[in-house]
Amino acid sequence: MSHAGTIIGIPGLEVVRVKRRRGVEVWAQPYRRPPCAHCQGHDLRIKATYRRTVKHTRQGNQVLTLHLRVPKYHCRGCRRYFRHPFAGIRPRYRSSEAYRMEVYEAHDGGVTLRKLSQTHQISAATVERWYQHHLGRKRSEMSNRPCPRILGIDEHFFTRKKGYATTFVDLRKHRVFDVKLGRSEPSLRPYLKGLRDRGNVQVVVMDLSETYRSIARQYFPGATIVADRFHVVRLINQHFLKVWQQHDPEGRRNRGLISLMRRHQWNLSDEQHANLMHYLATYPVLQQLYVAKQRLVRLMLLKTLTAKRARKKLPQLLELMDQLRDSPLRALAKTLTSWLEPIVAMWRFSKSNGITEGFHNKMEMISRRAYGFRNFENYRLRVLTHCGWDGIINRVRMDAHPPFMG
Ligand SMILES: [Zn+2]
Repeated sequence: MSHAGTIIGIPGLEVVRVKRRRGVEVWAQPYRRPPCAHCQGHDLRIKATYRRTVKHTRQGNQVLTLHLRVPKYHCRGCRRYFRHPFAGIRPRYRSSEAYRMEVYEAHDGGVTLRKLSQTHQISAATVERWYQHHLGRKRSEMSNRPCPRILGIDEHFFTRKKGYATTFVDLRKHRVFDVKLGRSEPSLRPYLKGLRDRGNVQVVVMDLSETYRSIARQYFPGATIVADRFHVVRLINQHFLKVWQQHDPEGRRNRGLISLMRRHQWNLSDEQHANLMHYLATYPVLQQLYVAKQRLVRLMLLKTLTAKRARKKLPQLLELMDQLRDSPLRALAKTLTSWLEPIVAMWRFSKSNGITEGFHNKMEMISRRAYGFRNFENYRLRVLTHCGWDGIINRVRMDAHPPFMG
């Protein structure tokens, strides 16, 4: 008789009989006595034997059902009783952990309740129950994590009905720390207050949002606020586009021009550059603004500067801002001035929320694959499974993104 533990993934089993009917039926029994569950003693006798039927992994397209002989032992050492424990099968459960995991993963991957109830011969309600059970376990693993040292905060759209959510990213470990519904201080307050070790946070990276800035000041008072390069560049481009629109609405709609205008100057060929300059020659103000914008973007892309170099660069930035303050880009100048400190802090770091943007794309896919989420908690846990705790994370860098205009 063979020891089939390695075949079916449950160690310590001896197969007695196999029968193929509509599924695969396997009769098995333990071939070794365990130590006493209470005192670890070895002086056991079998008091009785029970039968237990457990659904196990699928073999091909057939469900494997295990019919187990379960000895009940009496320990002569401590005089207590216990039933034979099987690795991978919880007491009283009628399916193995592997089976439940299989169902969880399939459902998580988008297989419907209905389909799973057919393939795995369980009710849809059971699938849902197992799914929630698994998530609950994950949830308890997740609470009590200390705050990350470098925290990225960003918003993303959840549903039309529930609006926006806030993403908290551990930028050092490249994973989603959490997602929470809402993007205002009152809606995030209970969550923020409950966070463990908020003092851990040394750096908070964010877009130029007043709400997030005041949240950071209030809840992470020890942290340096750093502007997010990715959003700053986008903001600059958006302002520039608006001005372009005012100067030449027609040119603004020209695809070829847009493509030239949106690229970094250093990415243009000589010919492309000449074409762009030729166009801009007709609009002297726009031309000046374009040059200023390019210089500004170049400054915004600086990173990991030493304090000394950052101090040297600062006058260049201030001069540009002065120039913009008297131009059609004055609104931009005003915003950047109020964020001067976080922008200068940005020069000292390499981290940006570019990775967060990558996560947001992934989250949208998760949401779409599940046909949208009505329940935010389900969504949150799924996001953390795939982008947080144990998901495989692709590092998404800012430079991997297309330029942000239009
Ligand atoms: Zn005992």
